[in-house]
Amino acid sequence: MQFEAVIGLEIHAQLRTATKIFCGCGTAFGEPPNTQVCPVCLGFPGALPVLNARAVELAVKAALALGCEIQPTSIFARKNYFYPDLPKGYQISQYERPFALAGLVVWQADGESHRVRITRVHMEEDAGKSLHDTPEAATGTCLDFNRAGTPLVEIVTEPDIRSGAVAADFFSRLRDVLTTVGANDGNLEEGSLRCDANVSVRPVGTTTLGTKVEIKNLNSFRFVQKAIEYEIVRQSAVVREGGRIVQETRLWDADAGCTESMRSKEEAHDYRYFPEPDLPPLRIAGADLARWQAELPELPEKLRERLTAQYGLPAYDAGVLTHSAALARFFEQTAAAANPKAASNWIMGELLRLLRASDLEIGALTTVTPDGLAALIRLVDAGTINGPTAKAVFETMFTSGRAPDEIVKTDGLGQVSDEGAVLAIVRGVIEKETDAVEQYRKGKQAALGFLTGQVMKAAKGKANPKLAGSLLARELGPPGAA
Ligand code: ADP
Ligand code: ZN
Ligand code: MG
Repeated sequence: MQFEAVIGLEIHAQLRTATKIFCGCGTAFGEPPNTQVCPVCLGFPGALPVLNARAVELAVKAALALGCEIQPTSIFARKNYFYPDLPKGYQISQYERPFALAGLVVWQADGESHRVRITRVHMEEDAGKSLHDTPEAATGTCLDFNRAGTPLVEIVTEPDIRSGAVAADFFSRLRDVLTTVGANDGNLEEGSLRCDANVSVRPVGTTTLGTKVEIKNLNSFRFVQKAIEYEIVRQSAVVREGGRIVQETRLWDADAGCTESMRSKEEAHDYRYFPEPDLPPLRIAGADLARWQAELPELPEKLRERLTAQYGLPAYDAGVLTHSAALARFFEQTAAAANPKAASNWIMGELLRLLRASDLEIGALTTVTPDGLAALIRLVDAGTINGPTAKAVFETMFTSGRAPDEIVKTDGLGQVSDEGAVLAIVRGVIEKETDAVEQYRKGKQAALGFLTGQVMKAAKGKANPKLAGSLLARELGPPGAA
C-alpha cells in the first residue's frame, strides 16, 4: 500500500519588541539569568498586565503579510497548567477568539506552485527557561525567567503540506516573510523561531485524516525535514503491519536521527481556558490597521517575481537575493549602475562568500557599497581589468573599504591593452618557449593554451587575455604550419 503524508505546522515566533508583552522588562537575549524580571512577569499576585502596543502592531503586520483576516475584536485567555518555568501557573494566550484567521501562503519553487492555508494566528506570552547542565545549574535544575513574558505569535497552518522538504521550504519562506516585515529576528538557534510539526499518514487516494503525531520544538530547517521524513517512514510501517498510530507528542533526537515518544494523548492537558479577567478584549482600530497595511514592505515572493521580470534574472538568483530584504536592496542599487546579471553573480558568489567567511550580515557591511561594486563591474566591462584581477580587487575592497578605481591605479593592476606592450611580451615568450612553439607548429593545439598561460604569467596576470590570444595566434601563424 502506498501512503501519503499529511502535515500541519504550528510555529512560534518571538516578536521583535524592546520590552515584554505585559510589562516593561527588557527582552534582550543572553542576559544573566533573572535580571529582566518584575512582579508582572514573575506572576506575583495582584500585579497587573498591560498589553504592549508595539507587540500588537508587529503581530498584526505578521498576520497581514500571511494574508490573514484581522479580527476587530479578540480575547486573551488563561491557559492553566503547572510547569516550573511558568510562575503564574497559567499562560496568557488567545484561544477561541484569536486576532487573525484564514490566511494563505503561496509560492513557486522548481517550477511548482505551492499553497499552504493559515488557520489562525494568535498572540501569547513565552514561558521562562529551565537550565540544566549549565554552570549555575551544576547540582540541579535552575530557572531563568528572563524569557517569561516575551511576546509571541503562534501561527497554525491547515494540514496542507505533503512532504518534509516542502514543510522545511515553507518554514524557511515564513521566516523570510516575518523578518521582512520586522516582526521576528529569524534566529532559530536562539529560539526566536520554533516549529512543531503535526504528521499523519493515509493510503494514497483516501481523504480522511489519519491519527496525527506532534513533533515538538524543531529548531532548524534540516530538522523539520528530517524529523517529518522519519515520522512518515515510521508511521507507514506501523500501518502497513496492521498496527495503529497512537496520538502522542514526540521529540526529534538529532544525534540518533529519530523521533522519540514524549507523552501520549492520555496525559494530555485540560487547560481550563477562561477569558483573562485582567485584560480587556483587544480591539484593533480600522485606522491602525490601514496604516500598518500601508507600511508593509514588499514581501519576498512578490520581490522574487519582480526581480526576475524587471532584471531578467533566473529564478535561482532571485531566490538567493531575496533571502533578506537588505541583500535584495544591495542588488537593486548595484544593478542601477551596472549589468544586473553581473551584479547578481558578484553578490551570490564573492560577496556572500566573504560575508560568511567573516561572519557578517549584509546589513553590517560598511566596506563594499553597491556603488563600489557597480564601479568594479564597469571596470571589467570596459576591459580595464580582467576577471581574476577583479576578484582580487573585490577582496581588497571588502577588507579595506577602498574604491576599485583607486585600488587599480595605486596597486598598478590595470589590464595591459596596449598592443605594443603585449606584443613585446608575446615575442619574448615565443623566443623562450621553443619546444611548445615547435609542438604547436606540428599541430598540437594544446600548446597554444600553455603559451597563452606563459604570456599572462610574464605580464603578471595583467595582459588583456583576448589581445594576448590574438597576438599570439598572429605571431605563431596557423597551427600545423611546420
Ligand atoms: P489540536 O487540537 O491537537 O491542537 P488542531 O486541530 O488544532 O489539533 O491542529 C493542530 C495542527 O495539526 C494544525 O497545524 C493542523 O493543520 C494539524 N493537523 C490536524 N490534524 C492533522 C492530521 N490528521 N494530520 C496532520 N496534521 C494535522
Ligand atoms: Zn516584567
Ligand atoms: Mg489546536
